Amino acid sequence: MDAFNKLTEYFSEFPGIGPRQAKRFAYFLLTRNQNYLDELSRNIAAIKDAVTLCTSCYRFFLKDSPKTAVCSICANKNRDTSTRMVVSRDVDLDTIEKAGVYNGLYFVLGGSIPILEKNPERRIRAAELVSMLENNLKQGVLKEIIFALNANPEGENTQYYLEKFLEPLKEQYNVKLSTLGRGLSTGTELEYSDGETIKNALKNRQ
Ligand SMILES: [Zn+2]
Repeated sequence: MDAFNKLTEYFSEFPGIGPRQAKRFAYFLLTRNQNYLDELSRNIAAIKDAVTLCTSCYRFFLKDSPKTAVCSICANKNRDTSTRMVVSRDVDLDTIEKAGVYNGLYFVLGGSIPILEKNPERRIRAAELVSMLENNLKQGVLKEIIFALNANPEGENTQYYLEKFLEPLKEQYNVKLSTLGRGLSTGTELEYSDGETIKNALKNRQ
């Protein structure tokens, strides 16, 4: 396949990008000069080296020196370690951080579970979540797990799965499981919610 069509195919795999937009991206690249394209290629090639996964909340963060295992949120002594907010993706975490209304810690699932998925545990970091939670619960610091998933069928399916999955931990440690209030209207993706909506959803969690 030629480079133009190959790139169009790549772009169409990006989140939220359809075939027509993908083609527009490819045409856009044709209007740029060679330096721009070389730099873009270099950055794409280097992105994995620049970023690493936090060993506590599993969000991506920029590698710094000296190298740290946890991100700036997890390392921040002023954050409230008694709550963990579970989100699907890094962009959801970014949206909530930007709203500036939550001071606890996070966990990034790395995806969500489509309805009728046969291998749900492969879609999200379920095992990592349980092992992190168990660790925190054993230390007696964690009191509440807040689900902040998208208010759509896939988000609900993910939460349903996780609630069942976390049931033994809930029983054993008496940890509270709560959900962001539905000030987030149905069908809304968390990523596109504004600060005020998130603030209310957090306040009205149940
Ligand atoms: Zn972290």
